[in-house]
Amino acid sequence: MMQTLIQTGLAQLGQAGRVPENAAALLARYGELLVEKNRVMNLTAITQPRDVATLHMLDCAALLDCAGFEGRTLIDVGTGAGFPGVPLAALVPSLKVTLLDALNKRVDWLGETCKALGLDNARAIHGRAEEAGREPNLREAFDFAAARAVADLRVLAELCLPFVKVGGWFLAMKGTDCGAELEQALPTIQALGGRAAEPFDYTIPHTEVAHRVVRIEKIGPTPSQYPRRWAKIQKEGQKKAP
Ligand code: SAH
Repeated sequence: MMQTLIQTGLAQLGQAGRVPENAAALLARYGELLVEKNRVMNLTAITQPRDVATLHMLDCAALLDCAGFEGRTLIDVGTGAGFPGVPLAALVPSLKVTLLDALNKRVDWLGETCKALGLDNARAIHGRAEEAGREPNLREAFDFAAARAVADLRVLAELCLPFVKVGGWFLAMKGTDCGAELEQALPTIQALGGRAAEPFDYTIPHTEVAHRVVRIEKIGPTPSQYPRRWAKIQKEGQKKAP
């Protein structure tokens, strides 16, 4: 059931011939492992097979249309149970994916799961983004930073943009109603070396759910004072726009 939905959904997204033949089977297996583990560990609120296939797998698969990922590197910031990083790794074998999360038990499960799925292009690392973004081997080291359901865009920009190489992209998965949120985040995005580009809107196959990828290009290096400490970032995020 999950596999069929994913397979037909990928076709609707125009990806059927572009992703590996076993991609739908792999993502269905990942969905099963997720639902199974969710009985003993809090990983997701979405547990119906139909919803796992659409709201998790196909939602993330829609990202394929908004950038070229082949042969690139991507960090998924606040990956949780692996979204969007694990589907992207399954769909684009030449993409090297780093899954980052602050919760160690999720990271451990992700490591095991990627191994079980044979995804050798994905690795899971434990850490807080605002600390990891200062590590020399991670800072400005990725072509893409992606995030879904982690924080407000202003906070998220500070967590994600430090990881992105100049010329790379920060992709934030949001609802289509995020206009005001983006507006408020623009000064921070600019301070971090980013520039907002045309957003990418899509409808998740087999649903009427419309989502948006906010696309931020990294046009200059992130100044060394960023990312700041968590308390500082959050406080800033609560201020009203000027
Ligand atoms: N991206 C996933 C998970 C969203 S839940 C999805 O779309 O389903 C948010 C996740 O972000 C949690 O797992 C939490 O541990 C992680 N997180 C929140 N703040 C973080 C930070 N500062 N650094 C790293 N991970 C963080």
